[in-house]
Amino acid sequence: MATAFGTVFMPEMAITWFDGTNWTPAEMVPSDRLTLHPGAHVLHYSSTCFEGLKAFRHEDGSVNIFRMDKNLARMAQSSRLLALPELDLTLAASMIKQTVARFADAVPAPPGSLYIRPTYIGTEAAIGKAASPSLASCFYVLVSPVGDYFAGGDRALRLLLEENGMRCAPHMGMIKSGGNYASALQPILKANQEVQADQVLFCPNGDVQETGAANFLLIDGNEIITKDLDESFLHGVTRDSILTLARDLGMTVSERKLSVAELLERAAKPECEAALSGTAAVLTPVGTLIHQGKEYPIGNGGIGQTVLKLRQALNDIQWGKAPDTHGWLERI
Ligand SMILES: *Cc1c(COP(=O)(O)O)cnc(C)c1O
Repeated sequence: MATAFGTVFMPEMAITWFDGTNWTPAEMVPSDRLTLHPGAHVLHYSSTCFEGLKAFRHEDGSVNIFRMDKNLARMAQSSRLLALPELDLTLAASMIKQTVARFADAVPAPPGSLYIRPTYIGTEAAIGKAASPSLASCFYVLVSPVGDYFAGGDRALRLLLEENGMRCAPHMGMIKSGGNYASALQPILKANQEVQADQVLFCPNGDVQETGAANFLLIDGNEIITKDLDESFLHGVTRDSILTLARDLGMTVSERKLSVAELLERAAKPECEAALSGTAAVLTPVGTLIHQGKEYPIGNGGIGQTVLKLRQALNDIQWGKAPDTHGWLERI
């Protein structure tokens, strides 16, 4: 019996504390506790952001981290938008590598990997700071070995199209921050219960955006269509990687607005496919859209061949089975 994704943690993590002026030297500490003042800013005003990336074991035994720089750049952006103290990216990168190196022997072979969860929180004990930033902070790096995401079988997901609600406030969209997931939770639970949807595809005012924790890609024959980058949604590293590989494979990549009307019209074509992209699952096929009580199969309603081909192309690079032509891997 496989354990649920992200429930097993390696026993230590790298941590550093910022007191408003200096960072403490990075330390490896037990990963099953964290001492915070109960008045810490993060616990009251959600000054928190995180990242999710992976390290992969190759056949030669080496351990390789995928696109760490891109994830760290996004974390710096998240932390700026939350007005947290500026992250020390050199320190953060060395702590990620230190933690992965510490547990290199525990990195599972493909299709498993080591999931890395850098976390950054505001720690100042100041409950009067509802409208001002935490001057103190803490950065730590948890790691969790994960198995085959599709061990239970690959299945095409059902998505509810939600045109009225939104995942989060539009100015919070490109922050990978706890509050945004809290904000999306009730709509997702409701969609699970009422229409047996796996996820909600948020489409505020008919603009097809993303789900609670993954980006949405529509594939129509040789064309891949996804929302262009704006401030309203999370700019996935997997999205960027898949679009890059799609271009390499000669596909047309269209980053532009996609309306619900166009999505439903295209979905009816037999050659149409769709997928969700994110670090945990890479690419998950989408088979059915649910809109205003009606169900719309995408293409044949099953798992698309192009989705599988793109997922394989990315896995091959991550697993060291294809040349890393874009320089995405860093060997530890
Ligand atoms: C993390 C996340 C994604 C996917 O980003 P990746 O970098 O591909 O893992 C997409 N949307 C949301 C809301 C996310 O939190």
